[in-house]
Amino acid sequence: MSATVVDSHRRPRCGDGLVSRRARPAGATGRWGAIRHDWQPQEIRAIHDTPLLELVFQAARVHRQHHDPKEVQVCKLISIKTGGCPEDCAYCSQSSRYETGVDAQPMLDRETVLGIAQRAKEHGVSRVCMGAAWREVRDNAQFERVLEMVQAVKAMGLEVCCTLGMLTEAQARRLEAAGLHAYNHNLDTSEDHYKRIITTRTYQDRLQTLRNVRKTSVTLCTGGILGLGETVRDRVALLQTLAALNPHPESVPINILSKVPGTPLGDQADVPFDETLRMIATARIVLPASIVRLSAGRARLSLTEQALCFMAGANSIFSSETGSMLTQAVPSPDYAADQQMLTMLGLKPREPLRAK
Ligand code: SAM
Ligand code: SF4
Repeated sequence: MSATVVDSHRRPRCGDGLVSRRARPAGATGRWGAIRHDWQPQEIRAIHDTPLLELVFQAARVHRQHHDPKEVQVCKLISIKTGGCPEDCAYCSQSSRYETGVDAQPMLDRETVLGIAQRAKEHGVSRVCMGAAWREVRDNAQFERVLEMVQAVKAMGLEVCCTLGMLTEAQARRLEAAGLHAYNHNLDTSEDHYKRIITTRTYQDRLQTLRNVRKTSVTLCTGGILGLGETVRDRVALLQTLAALNPHPESVPINILSKVPGTPLGDQADVPFDETLRMIATARIVLPASIVRLSAGRARLSLTEQALCFMAGANSIFSSETGSMLTQAVPSPDYAADQQMLTMLGLKPREPLRAK
């Protein structure tokens, strides 16, 4: 469904719903839904703090302006290179710095990856994301194998995404030439909180990779994680950073921390469901045309909670044949359970976008 968007760079005015002086629910004028890159933290915070069901209703309205609400894209994450990562991301089961029970494994071979992708396609998956536990891409034989896998999975008629760590512009161009549709590189949290979660690279490194990808026709997938000990201010700052990207990232994963024993964040408190719902609804309003992906942590949500997330604008899930996302430390519902859920909710899996 095409966007019916108003002007994209206007400043908010009193009466726009975002800067209302009275306690009237923000957005009551129905003007949310514009693509903007100049969101201010207090505006995003006002949306985030809107009474919950009003927020879900407004997000659902914006969702319907930009997307077909009957469609949910089902994605499959394939860990093509698991474990042994030198980085110190405090949430990650694949960092070699923590005892998580996830050992370094060799890279999967092409036939294994194609088999997983084929079975995924048969179960309604339209996008396959290949992930590697790397700090950055190196110009070596392993990268050549990734390029071959991208070509082969694309030839199956699937959207192909990769998440391989930091990337130069030249490497992004090679992935583009291989037919890559999207590159995932999550910002995870606010710039301020990031240094408490990862010390082996900076937020600016992360943004530089996003800029490198943007120089190509490969689309951007970048989002965050809830439950890293961040404040609401950090969540708002993350959304502001994502919305300031011009154009907006086409895809925004919202992960809920999967607590991994052995990592520094293994004992974090659970994220209450209303906070997840608020984040999804706020992301939907601030990034109206982006696909909002309900990602890691979905296995903990009930069907009713997931239904509320779809109502609030989430329009993609990751599904699995093994009950896990990248590693067993991050559980995921399986294809059969997800097909049953979507059918029950009257939703249908979205077809792949036409190949570029
Ligand atoms: N090494 C690459 C990188 O960091 O960009 C790609 C793989 S990394 C595992 C992909 C993303 O998964 C991370 O950016 C993070 O947002 C998410 N992730 C990893 N472990 C997680 C966990 N335990 N809970 C929630 N999200 C997680
Ligand atoms: Fe490595 Fe990525 Fe895990 Fe960080 S999130 S430790 S970079 S695999």
